[in-house]
Amino acid sequence: MSGGWAGSNRRAELPADWYTVIRPFVLNRDEHRCRNRINGHVCGRWANQVDHIGDRMDHRPEMLQALCADCHGRKSSQQGNAARWAERTTRPPERHPGLI
Ligand SMILES: [Zn+2]
Repeated sequence: MSGGWAGSNRRAELPADWYTVIRPFVLNRDEHRCRNRINGHVCGRWANQVDHIGDRMDHRPEMLQALCADCHGRKSSQQGNAARWAERTTRPPERHPGLI
């Protein structure tokens, strides 16, 4: 196998201004806080990912939310229908960026 992205057209599904306009907009709007709810509480951790709430072809800002890497990974792995393009869920050993 060569390169995890071979055969994936996920990138092509994102609009041209995804990284320059849409993604920064959503992260700013959500104040870089993870909007995922865990047991009714907002996660609130530092978000650096933007997630499609509904259809992954729906790029309207109201259909996007900021997520932390952890929640995004978890959500992606829960979406069975998204599994074919989701990154492998195996993660490298957890590195602690520093306890807060
Ligand atoms: Zn989170």
